[in-house]
Amino acid sequence: MSPQPHVLIVGGSYAGLNALNQLISLSQGKAPQEAPTSGPLKHIRPLNVKPRYTILDERDGFYHLVGAPLSMISSNIAWEFWVPFQHIIKTKEGYTDVSFVHGKATSLNEAAKKMDYKTPAGELKSIPYDYLIVATGMARTAPVVPTAMFRDQYLKDVKKLENELGQHQKIVLVGGGAVGIEMAAETKVHFPNADVSLIHSRSQLLSAEDLPDDFKAKAADLVRESGVNVILGQRVTGNKNVDGGVELTLSNGETMFANKAIFTAVQQGANTKFLPSQHWMKDDCYKTRDTLQFPEDLENSDVIYAAGDVVSWSGIKRSGPAGNMGKIAAKNIFAQMLAAEDGRAASEIEFEKLQPVTRASMSLAVGNQAMSNGGESLRWGPGVKQGAFGRALGLDGKIESCYILCVSNTDKMVRDTLETGYPASFAAGSEV
Ligand SMILES: Cc1cc2nc3c(=O)[nH]c(=O)nc-3n(C[C@H](O)[C@H](O)[C@H](O)COP(=O)(O)OP(=O)(O)OC[C@H]3O[C@@H](n4cnc5c(N)ncnc54)[C@H](O)[C@@H]3O)c2cc1C
Repeated sequence: MSPQPHVLIVGGSYAGLNALNQLISLSQGKAPQEAPTSGPLKHIRPLNVKPRYTILDERDGFYHLVGAPLSMISSNIAWEFWVPFQHIIKTKEGYTDVSFVHGKATSLNEAAKKMDYKTPAGELKSIPYDYLIVATGMARTAPVVPTAMFRDQYLKDVKKLENELGQHQKIVLVGGGAVGIEMAAETKVHFPNADVSLIHSRSQLLSAEDLPDDFKAKAADLVRESGVNVILGQRVTGNKNVDGGVELTLSNGETMFANKAIFTAVQQGANTKFLPSQHWMKDDCYKTRDTLQFPEDLENSDVIYAAGDVVSWSGIKRSGPAGNMGKIAAKNIFAQMLAAEDGRAASEIEFEKLQPVTRASMSLAVGNQAMSNGGESLRWGPGVKQGAFGRALGLDGKIESCYILCVSNTDKMVRDTLETGYPASFAAGSEV
């Protein structure tokens, strides 16, 4: 190992940034940031040699994916949802040595402890690491999420889509999972004069999720209350371009015209194509040990972790659990670094283990309302939205997972960053 350990985090989002913040806190000897599972972590003291960190991401900034249904169609708020990594790194100044590399991971060389990547200019490069966290999430298509890798292009794309949708009378969202529900309701709120429909193939919304029936029924009620026309039990079996839009064919043989149809359920699997294929699981999510380390049969797997949506695990894929996994991976890496400094054997390290999810929970924004079964009972209404999502679908720190920009929730918080999405020097609203 190099004298100063190097932690490479591939994917700087909820999982990756929570891991970074947790590692920075722990290596200064601070107690671990809160996480739903309690871990062993008996030894805490500042590390003698503070690690250095690199975030490798194909985007040039953190994109607040939870808020995508709002940010993708609303240019007056979109600028807040994409925070350049250079600004995030500024919030770590004085704490540690963090750098950002803009590039797409292309191949893991676990034997040599190197990650190959491609720069936006197409150059092939490689980064050596002592510890690696893979936090690359799931691949999704536009316009559900941005395809841009640069913030400037993302802002242009949002403006274009907003202008386009603003001219349409009939907008159809296909797929009644959480993303389809949130997008349909946000679209209706943003374009109140448009006729917005949500089509879902099964008799209940959220049919793929292990959620109670009352949650699914209430979700349908709230979507209808928001003014969206909900069509259940119809699969879209065909779509062809016609004058002014598309003609959708439903499984009952009927056709439906839309100026714009957005397919929200198209998932391309987890972003794991750069990892050894033998441990790809369902949807290309990656198999890990319960410590979040890679499976033991891979060389040097003890220092390779995965966290977030990319991990094959129980429960609904959400930002909170993703962040929690980042914190657990960080705790375990910290325990390894501390043991290395103290000369303790690897066999003496007590690793924190990720627990299986026993109860499915979700907070769902539905236009001006939200619903949640996060506590004991199902709650819904505008107050739930304010409490869970705030003004900008969680960006302003209303949900736990979004405290990603500060080093510690209880220590020095970069308040102006949290309040505006940027340090004060970066004028609000100046970009668009
Ligand atoms: C439209 C939408 C709405 C959602 N709403 C909610 C919600 O209301 N509440 C909730 O809890 N969850 C919600 N989710 C789910 C939530 O966004 C995810 O669970 C969460 O983003 C997972 O975080 P992550 O850090 O694992 O991955 P991601 O947030 O997906 O981040 C992955 C990061 O890796 C980078 N990356 C990917 N591939 C590479 C590569 N090869 N090389 C380098 N970098 C790479 C990406 O650029 C990105 O920065 C929503 C998801 C969507 C799509």
